[in-house]
Amino acid sequence: MIINYSELAVKELINEVLQAYASQNPGTCKCERCKNDIMALALNNLPPKYVVTDIGRVYTKAVFDQVGGKAQVIAALTSAIQRVRQHPRH
Ligand SMILES: [Zn+2]
Repeated sequence: MIINYSELAVKELINEVLQAYASQNPGTCKCERCKNDIMALALNNLPPKYVVTDIGRVYTKAVFDQVGGKAQVIAALTSAIQRVRQHPRH
């Protein structure tokens, strides 16, 4: 199967990053629509990293190494959260 490491990394971190951001910024929406908008925006700002893999052969640690580190993904998510917060579509 084909997977995008960037997508895996974003899905892995979305809840953690959104939770942390919301605790600092009360009123941050965490509904499914906003979450999906945040993930889409973050992914548009991260380089895609497609690989072919067997099901069950994906490890989180390797995922972050492949996409340039956890910090880069957190930064993309944080700026996406800020944009969605200013222009929510829910
Ligand atoms: Zn929302």
